[in-house]
Amino acid sequence: MAWRILVFSLSQVLGLLLGWWYGGAWGAAVGGALAGWCWFAADLGRGLRVLRWFRHGDLDALPQPMHGLWGQALDRVRRLLRAQQLQIQERESQLDDIFAALQASPNGLVLLDSEGHIEWCNQIACAHFGFDAERDRMQLLGNLVRDPDFTAYLASKDYAHGVVLQGRSSTPSRPVRLSVHIYPHGQGRKLMLSRDITALEQAEAMRRDFVANVSHEIRTPLTVLTGFVETLQTLKLSPEENERYLALMAQQAMRMQNVVQGLLTLSRLEDSPWPGKGEWVSVQRLLEQCADEGRALSQLLTRNQSQHHTMVFPLPAPAEGLGEIAGIQSELLSALSNLVANAVRYTPASGSITVKWRWLDDGGAVFSVQDTGPGIDPKHVPRLTERFYRVDHSRSRETGGTGLGLSIVKHVLQRHDAVLEIDSKPGRGSTFSVHFPASRVRKPHNALAMPTPGAG
Ligand code: ADP
Repeated sequence: MAWRILVFSLSQVLGLLLGWWYGGAWGAAVGGALAGWCWFAADLGRGLRVLRWFRHGDLDALPQPMHGLWGQALDRVRRLLRAQQLQIQERESQLDDIFAALQASPNGLVLLDSEGHIEWCNQIACAHFGFDAERDRMQLLGNLVRDPDFTAYLASKDYAHGVVLQGRSSTPSRPVRLSVHIYPHGQGRKLMLSRDITALEQAEAMRRDFVANVSHEIRTPLTVLTGFVETLQTLKLSPEENERYLALMAQQAMRMQNVVQGLLTLSRLEDSPWPGKGEWVSVQRLLEQCADEGRALSQLLTRNQSQHHTMVFPLPAPAEGLGEIAGIQSELLSALSNLVANAVRYTPASGSITVKWRWLDDGGAVFSVQDTGPGIDPKHVPRLTERFYRVDHSRSRETGGTGLGLSIVKHVLQRHDAVLEIDSKPGRGSTFSVHFPASRVRKPHNALAMPTPGAG
């Protein structure tokens, strides 16, 4: 303000002096008036520049710095705008963070306005319902999700519970189930949450099946056992009959024991730490044990028959051995010998079983068991490793099977990064192959040539 008075006064004095020098008293009066008008015009010009800038408010195009009242006003407004701009930037960045967090949510999120238009949705919601985040903005949700259950849910306006729907990408072979829940908030606005519960429902169904299967597997021999116990208690039997009944009871007890043992093995496999690559197991030793167990089982199963299985194992290995597998010896043996045992159990005595170990070009190796048994219908193959899944129930039971063998094999192999492949044709036998990756196997030192299979 003081500056303003000073400049005005100086211009007046200058006008007066110049006017006096030029025309005396009249000259001084005209000079003072002219100086006043000049000052007023200059001030008006600066005021207009400031007003023009106020109209646009562009912080990057500020008028030249100026002194005085207009300069101060300009400065104050500029500072105010700058603070406001910073605040807006801060809010925008907070909003961006919130949306990024919502985008990262593992659940689908849809924000709806009071009339049910989609204001925003994250990528998961797009995948769940087939939305396009840009294209479908401000579209009515009810027009895009046409599931009758959802339409009824949306119309009911009772959002205490959610609703379960079929996902957009659901197919009969790969069903997708979604749990959808609407949460009202604010003034009529809504938040819709969707969650993929396919795995949860499958796990629940598997748990139910598992409990039913275990109960069935235990109950059947238990019923038989109870029947025998009652017979022994109520009837007077001859010593031979007694012995026969006791043998049958022992068989049923053994069956239950096998089931419990199998279940314990599976739970131990699920709980124990992943096998490292620090311990190396000799392939030759594994094959020898598989051969011993396979032959013993074959002798047991064909002891009353005129024919016996022909069993072919790799030839005795050269001095340096056949190589090694990184993993847990007991688990590897149980998986590989299980495949040999299955071949023996399901192949008639006249058939043959061939076990091979071969190296692949990529450094991996394959253990395979080929039999000339009944083979398996392709429709059963994908389910063979499920717990308690059997194709031939009677043969499985007769030979002490539990229906858990291949699921134990699968678990062990998964833990060793190996893959089980089943190649089988009904009436033409089966080949069960185990592919070990290069990272899990190593060739013997000085290995020049790998041995070929020979008769065992
Ligand atoms: P099980 O104890 O019944 O043998 P597994 O899990 O080992 O259970 O095998 C599952 C089913 O796969 C068996 O019941 C059998 O029907 C079938 N199977 C397994 N191996 C063979 C094979 N080598 N030849 C024919 N069928 C087989």
